[in-house]
Amino acid sequence: MPELPPSGGPAVFWDGATARRRVVMLRFGAGALEIVEDGVRVGTWPYADLRHRDGGAATRIGCVSAPELARLEIADPALAAAITRLAPDIDAADPRRSRLRLKIVLGSLAVAVSLVATSWILLPHLADRLVPLIPDSFEQRLGAASDNQVKSLFGAEVCGRADGVAALDALSARLAGVAGLPGPVRIAVLRSPVKNAITLPGGRIYLFDGLLQIARDPDEVAGVLAHEIGHVRARDGLRAMIQTGGSSYLLGLLFGDVTGGSAVIFATRLLVDGSHSREAERAADLDSARIMAALGRPAAPMAAFLLRVTGEGTGKQISLLLSHPLSEERLAALRALDGDRPVAGPALLDDAQWAALRGICRR
Ligand SMILES: [Zn+2]
Repeated sequence: MPELPPSGGPAVFWDGATARRRVVMLRFGAGALEIVEDGVRVGTWPYADLRHRDGGAATRIGCVSAPELARLEIADPALAAAITRLAPDIDAADPRRSRLRLKIVLGSLAVAVSLVATSWILLPHLADRLVPLIPDSFEQRLGAASDNQVKSLFGAEVCGRADGVAALDALSARLAGVAGLPGPVRIAVLRSPVKNAITLPGGRIYLFDGLLQIARDPDEVAGVLAHEIGHVRARDGLRAMIQTGGSSYLLGLLFGDVTGGSAVIFATRLLVDGSHSREAERAADLDSARIMAALGRPAAPMAAFLLRVTGEGTGKQISLLLSHPLSEERLAALRALDGDRPVAGPALLDDAQWAALRGICRR
């Protein structure tokens, strides 16, 4: 004897207007499924309007003519099968559902666009406020990441000839000794013909061998390093990375790049190609002059040196020097800071140390 179809059965009903879970009885009416709660009919869903919804163990059914979120959950497979047989379009798409999906996609896009727009417009202003709030440990991590980037961007390694490193460390110690920085500063020379010096987050300073090779005396190099120490003190490397990298960090997060790796690449490129403001440069120059004065040495050679480099540079090298925009004004300002102050301190490096420093990249 064939099994008789059920004449109805229990289900759980959500009306789509409230979150209330209601236990109801389903009855098969002439052209519609009737939803009955405590003997009262609370819904009539035409069979033609029934649609399957994604569900777990129970069968979930919605209705295109009922509120969008209204649904029935039917635990009894026989009852679910009987309803499915009566509903011709049960597996058709509900046009409202694809509209909903489109709305979600458009909504997410709008959020992404506004986040990015906000960051482009607001980050430069926010960076000044954010920098003091960022813990040193984070800056150190960012510094380590950008450090790797700089080395791979320039295909460069740190020069390590022992007597050169000893001379550089001696010079660094003298500069740091009077700079009064809260943390250590790491100065190294990169084997690269680029004529530049850069400061990364976390107190890392790189002098490129290309710049070192055209320096004429220790004061020129010391002034440049003291200027970079000024950038360390002001955390300008971190500030620049927030300003230029902020949007790409957001983009990275939005598109699942949780490591922010591409953002670091992006931001480091901009950092190397130049992103400090003129105000930041002026402040670093002041710091340089202060440090050199404390050592009894002149500040002007650094600016004269960089002006000389600009004159000698061509194409790419000039663009790299944009990280330290040069002008006669800067030179004049540093000369004014030196005033008539006599050069009272001993040379920062003796002749042997100076020769060793210049040869730090020799193999
Ligand atoms: Zn600078």
